[in-house]
Amino acid sequence: MRIIIVGAGIGGLTTALRLHHQGIDCEIYEQGDLVRELGVGINALPHAVKELTELGLLERLDEVAIRTHELVYLHRLGPEIMRRPCGLAAGFTWPQFSVHRGRLQGVLLRAVRERLGEDAVHTSRRLTGFEQDADGVEARFAEGEPVRADALVAADGIHSAVRATLFPGEGAPRWNGVMMWRGAVDWPRYGDGHQMVIAGGTAAKLVLYPIAEGKTPQTRLTNWAIGVLSGRPGDPPPQRQDWSRRVDPSGLAELAARFGIPVTDHAAMIAATADVFEFPMCDRDPLPYWTKGRVTLLGDAAHPMYPMGSNGAGQAILDATSLSIHLTQHEDPADALLAYQDERLPVTSEVVRRNRVGGPENVIDEVERRAPDGFSRIEDVMDPAEMEAIVAGYAKVTGASREQVNR
Ligand SMILES: Cc1cc2nc3c(=O)[nH]c(=O)nc-3n(C[C@H](O)[C@H](O)[C@H](O)COP(=O)(O)OP(=O)(O)OC[C@H]3O[C@@H](n4cnc5c(N)ncnc54)[C@H](O)[C@@H]3O)c2cc1C
Repeated sequence: MRIIIVGAGIGGLTTALRLHHQGIDCEIYEQGDLVRELGVGINALPHAVKELTELGLLERLDEVAIRTHELVYLHRLGPEIMRRPCGLAAGFTWPQFSVHRGRLQGVLLRAVRERLGEDAVHTSRRLTGFEQDADGVEARFAEGEPVRADALVAADGIHSAVRATLFPGEGAPRWNGVMMWRGAVDWPRYGDGHQMVIAGGTAAKLVLYPIAEGKTPQTRLTNWAIGVLSGRPGDPPPQRQDWSRRVDPSGLAELAARFGIPVTDHAAMIAATADVFEFPMCDRDPLPYWTKGRVTLLGDAAHPMYPMGSNGAGQAILDATSLSIHLTQHEDPADALLAYQDERLPVTSEVVRRNRVGGPENVIDEVERRAPDGFSRIEDVMDPAEMEAIVAGYAKVTGASREQVNR
């Protein structure tokens, strides 16, 4: 069997490694040149790290990422709502990693080239269409010759060309009215240097976490993100969701002043960041199906979601495992792609829906709704058992609870 994977993001590269692990032949076709390590911070929770460990990548991840030990939720004005251990500290067999997206992609790309061969990833090849018949599928590209294979896996992201072919009337991604600004900068460690902080609910949120060692032992490359509700949910996005759109950071001082957190001087951190990226927070509605014959969707092409609960890349990694297992269990690739869809579509659709109401961070929304000006005792605002139920309920839906992962 031979598989074409479209897109060399985290979803496409992990799929290639998984298929290779199962002895299935595949090649990746990517529109970009993969020269630059694009993006800012991303989190891989233990459910995803377990999969990457099975692929023999734990050591390499440790070389480029930070093991996250703790997650702290704060009210926008500073008071602490809750804190939870993460990864090994929470009793998982696998750690949680916070990492620069481009470096994680780099680790995966290097492994693909080492294991599948230098030629397994074809760059500057943009898919423009495909046709299938009873025996196979043929992919066409803007550059180069068409390619034929037994199946095609579209891991081509939120603006997926394959998804647009399967669902021509779908249109642009759905915007929830939140604009996001993100960056990463070498910054003095805060806490124990392994802490993720989320302050504020969906209307105004600040997120901080270290993603790599710094230039000195006292600093870390620290990822920050600010999200502010600035449009109406359901409005068309003000611009195409482009992860690489740079903006002038000077306009962000006013937004940073909305947060009063005791962790670090976040306003100075933002002002010191050279490259700031801006994009609207978008997802898409869950689909009725992903598979048509010998073609299927995976990762953000299948289920783009709001970045609550750190699940975008993780769910793509879980897709890759499911797909590769079904391809080894079915003789007919079309049956395998259907079985993969039946396993993964209901779960990921629920994650998309949960993220629309804040995911686990819905705890912060709820506290701020009850106590918009802050509080002195969290117990007076929200029962810790109620908070735990929201967070633990979300983890279970995403397959990320300790019981599910350590099993
Ligand atoms: C440039 C970039 C930067 C990002 N930065 C961040 C970040 O900072 N933080 C974060 O949390 N998430 C970021 N993401 C999103 C995150 O990587 C994904 O949500 C998640 O990892 C799921 O990955 P994916 O492989 O499904 O999709 P993606 O990561 O979006 O990868 C899709 C890949 O498909 C390629 N592609 C698209 N169309 C075609 C086509 N027609 N033919 C061939 N190839 C095609 C794209 O160039 C891309 O490499 C970024 C994505 C991209 C593409």
